[in-house]
Parts: sequence; structure tokens; C-alpha cells
Amino acid sequence: MARGPGGGGPMGGRFLSEEEQANPPKVTKELLKRVFSYLLPYWKQFAVVLLCIVVASIFSLMPSILTGKIIDEGIVGRSMHALVYYIVLSLAVTFLSNLIGVLQSYCNTWIAQHISFDMRNGLYEHLQMMSQRFFTSSNQGDIITRMTSDIDGVQRTITDTFANILSNTITLIVAIVAMYQKNWILATIGMVIVPLFAIPTRKAGKTRWTITREAQACNDEVNQILNETMSVSGQLLVKLFGKEKHEAAKYRAANEKMIGLNIRESMAGRWFRVVMSTVTSIGPMLIYLVGGLLIMKYDSSLTVGDITVLVALLGRMYMPVNSLLNMQVDWIRSMAMFTRIFEYFDMPVEIKNAPDAITPKQVDGSVEFSHVAFSYEPSRQILRDINFTLKRGDCIAIVGPSGSGKSTISNLIPRLYDVDQGYVSFGGIDVRKLDLTFLRSNIGVVSQETYLFNGTIRENLLYAKPSATEQELIDVCKKANIYDFIEGLEKGFDTEVGNRGLKLSGGEKQRLSIARVLLKDPALFIFDEATASLDSISENKIQEAINPIIESRTSILIAHRLSTILAADEILVIKDGCIAERGQHSDLVALGGIYTELYETQFKRAEDFENKGN
Ligand code: ATP
Repeated sequence: MARGPGGGGPMGGRFLSEEEQANPPKVTKELLKRVFSYLLPYWKQFAVVLLCIVVASIFSLMPSILTGKIIDEGIVGRSMHALVYYIVLSLAVTFLSNLIGVLQSYCNTWIAQHISFDMRNGLYEHLQMMSQRFFTSSNQGDIITRMTSDIDGVQRTITDTFANILSNTITLIVAIVAMYQKNWILATIGMVIVPLFAIPTRKAGKTRWTITREAQACNDEVNQILNETMSVSGQLLVKLFGKEKHEAAKYRAANEKMIGLNIRESMAGRWFRVVMSTVTSIGPMLIYLVGGLLIMKYDSSLTVGDITVLVALLGRMYMPVNSLLNMQVDWIRSMAMFTRIFEYFDMPVEIKNAPDAITPKQVDGSVEFSHVAFSYEPSRQILRDINFTLKRGDCIAIVGPSGSGKSTISNLIPRLYDVDQGYVSFGGIDVRKLDLTFLRSNIGVVSQETYLFNGTIRENLLYAKPSATEQELIDVCKKANIYDFIEGLEKGFDTEVGNRGLKLSGGEKQRLSIARVLLKDPALFIFDEATASLDSISENKIQEAINPIIESRTSILIAHRLSTILAADEILVIKDGCIAERGQHSDLVALGGIYTELYETQFKRAEDFENKGN
């Protein structure tokens, strides 16, 4: 049995993650306060749950207590009336207790659902505000786990863990009080028995805990294999390198390990039950023995009914004690889940609106970089002293070797990252002073990695402007040189683009994303040309699409092709994060520096290749 994330097991719920095992959560007052702060808005419903738990726990013990009356007053006292009365009362109380249980589980589920709804939305909104740095440095699986399994776990904690702790504690207290009311000697004997089965319970709990840890590691391994090999690109790699058998063997080995662990886990439970059933049968026998002795020799007031009640109550104590002892695992796991979720909530929002952020009526799309320095990580500076001005309506081409920092420059304008030194201004205002939504809605970026959602072409386009009319869609698609292609499709705009747009070619995706940006109608257009070579027909189509844009709009082109570069008013040559050369194409070629080298090795060859292709 392969366990999927959130799969069940004897411990219930998901397993402990490696992080949880290595760092068990510190259950502090603050943590508990914070956990309960989520309950606060629902305190009325929670009060109903508490009341239900108390009443249901007491009611559930009533039949055991009434057994004494049935025996003493009904059977031994030979009263048909008392017999029927207590039997009916006992049945009615059982029914009522179950009915209250239904109300309790409804309220409980309602609260849990609402708390997880609040948490899920709160966390999603918080994560939406996190910077690009967070998403590039975090593990995507980890984010999804926190958003899904951890929050589901929190929900389970509220429906199961909290409710179980409460109802078991109350049942236990009521049972103990009732036993002592009947007879203190027998009640004390019953109490002595409890530690006897507490020992094997703890032992079994520990064994299961260890096996669960191993199963968790094994489960991670199985999931990782699935994640890696069942993705589109993973499968492509497996197929192209002929690794099907190798991967199947790896999967089989991981699964085999899982089988062993599952068998061990199940057997740990089996032995535990053998020990438990032996120990639990000692308790009643001791009570019969001592109770019998007391009736026969010493205490004439004790009745057969009392002994039956004590035995029945003792039987009702095993379950709550057992489950309270095992609660530790659930409790730790629950607290670990809360801790993990709070960790995300506590991550500061790096890029946010200034308190006095400006939202101008209009912006002209001009850009200025002044002495800009930037690094993704403190140890490695990416940009140094970048200075340039892009005037309204102009076009700047940024060229340079791969990894020199071209895309990084474009990331700083819509504030995907903030500069370390200097400033970037947009429309004459420092981008850090502008309202973020305003800033980003005025910049259109066609990035190297075109991202399309799994949906139709229309849905992907409307993402930029949900109110766009059919005619607007047609217009932008014509401008982006993609309309002929869409028109030729059987379903036109309603064609599904597939997972991340995989049903479209690289060129089609780029043109579709140009159309999407055109629909946004931004003041500044940034086009990060894909480095992957497209065929010359695709190239030309893209070129035809962007040329009119460059002419009519303020734009920045991160260019790899001569045809794109030639259309620019100024060319910035970036090397090792600095502007090494700048000017017009002919001047730069005449300079005989880096640009000439790039021109000879990259642009010219690409151009020659294209010309031959045509
Ligand atoms: P290309 O032409 O290949 O797209 P580029 O000139 O656009 O390259 P950038 O993407 O700006 O280069 O990257 C500049 C440097 O910053 C590279 O060395 C890259 O490894 C590094 N880098 C880029 N993104 C990140 C990131 N999120 N975290 C850390 N380093 C990064």
C-alpha cells in the first residue's frame, strides 16, 4: 500500500514530516493562545460543543450506572415496574446521548470548517503578497502541503483531537466520581488497575511512533519518485534516456520497503491488543473477587447491582484512558501543523505598498535607473551602478551574455524585487513610492517563460482584461499575429491550451502572451525575448507582432536577435551586471568591443541562419 499525502494509517491523519521529527514543536503559551484565537470568533458554537460533550459524556455513562438499579430493584427486588422503568430509561438516555453526539459533531465540523476556511484564505492572501524571492527560494511542494494537508490537519485537530481530549477527560472524571460514590475500596482497586494497562499502551505507542517515522520517510521517497517521474518534463527525460526500467525498479524497491513497514506496524497493534485484552480482563475479576468478599464477609450494604455498576464503569474507563495516553502523538502533530502554518503567516511581506503610496491619474511609461545595485543573495552582487533613462515613446534594447543580469533589470521595474542601492523610477516617480497595483497594471511583461493557465485561449486572454469584448480580443490577436492561427482552430478562442499551454508551440505561446499584454494596454512594454531558438517563420511572426508595438510604445527589449535590436533607439550592453557599452548599433559595432563580439558570434549568425532559412 503506497501512502499518498494525507493517507490514513493506524495513527490517523498524515504522518510526521522529517522537519517535525527533527524539530518537535515547542508548545508555548503564545502558541496555544494563538491557536485558540482562531476559536474565539466561534465561541458561541464552541460553548454548544462543550455543553454537548459534557452532557453526552455523562449520559453515555448513565446506562452503566442504571444497570445497578435494573439488577437490585428490578431483578433482585422482583419489581416488574422498576425493571421496565430502568430499562426504558437506560435506552432513552442512550438514544439521547447519541442524539446530542450528532449535534456535537455537526457544531464541531461547522467550527472546524470555518476555522480552516479562515486560515486557508488568510494564508492564501498572505502568500499572494509574498515577494518573488519567496517563490523562487521556497519549495513549491512545501507551499502546497501547508496550504492543503496542514490546514486539513488543523481541521482534524479541531474535530477530533480537541473534542476527544475533552470528552475522554469528562467521561473519566464522571466514571471515577461515580465509582467512588458506590464503594471507595472497589473504586481504588479499579484505579490501581489503570497503570497496569497504561504501561503496554505507552510501549505500543512508542513502537508505532518509530515505525510511523520510518513510514513517513519511505512515503516521502515514494512521493518524490512519483512527483519526478509522473510530470510531463520528468516523463520526457525518462523516455529520452530510456530509464523506464530503472525508474520502475526504484519505485518497486521503495514500495517493497513500505510493505515491510506496514506489516510491522500492523503486528505492533496485534500484540498490543493481546496484552490489552488480558490486562483488561484482570480488572473486573479483581472487583468481583473483592466485591464478593465484602458482601459475604464484611459490608452488607454493598449489592450485586453495585458490583455490576463498578465493573461496567471500569470497562468504560479503558477507552478514554487509552485514547488520552495516545493523544500525545496527535497533540504533537497538531501543534507542529499549527506551528508550520504560523511560520508562513509570520513571514514578513518584503515588497509592499508604502504607507503614503501614490496613485497618479496617468503615467507616461518613462523609466530611469539611477546608480542601481542589486543582489538576489547577499553573497553575490548581480547588478552594479546601472544608470539609464528611457524616455516616453522610446525603445531600449538590452543585450549581453547569458546570465549577465538582463532579466534582472526588467524585474526591478514592476518591483518583483527592490533595489539594494540607487533607485528605479517609473513615470518620474520612485517605484517604491507608487501604489503596487497601479505600477504593475501599467507595465506589460512578456517574459521568456510564457505562462499560460490550463484553460481556453479566451480565458487566458481575458486574464488581462476580464471585460474585453470579442472585437477587442480579435484586434489584439491580429496585432500579435496569432489571429490566423486561432481562427484556423476548430474551437477558435475556446480551444483548450492544455497544462501550462503545452498544447501550443513556443512561438504560439509567445504571440498569445503578446496579445494578452496588448489587451492590458500598459504604458510600458517589456519584452524578454526567449533564448530558445524558434524557427525562422515563428521568429518573423513574433517580430512582425512586436515591431509596431516598439514604434508606438515605450518599451524595453531584452534582445537576442539582430532584427529586434535594430528597432531600438538605444542599446545597452550588459556584462557582469554593469553597463559595459551603450549607443546605436553602428557605433557599437565600430567600437570593436563586447557588442561586436556578440554581434559576430550571436546576432549575425542567427541573422544569416534566418536568411538562409527563408
Ligand atoms: P539570459 O540571457 O540567459 O536570460 P540574463 O542576462 O537575463 O540571462 P538574469 O536572469 O538576469 O540573466 O540572471 C542574472 C544572474 O542572476 C544569473 O547569474 C542568475 O544565476 C542569477 N539569478 C537569476 N534569478 C535568480 C534568483 N531568483 N535567485 C538567485 N539568483 C538568481
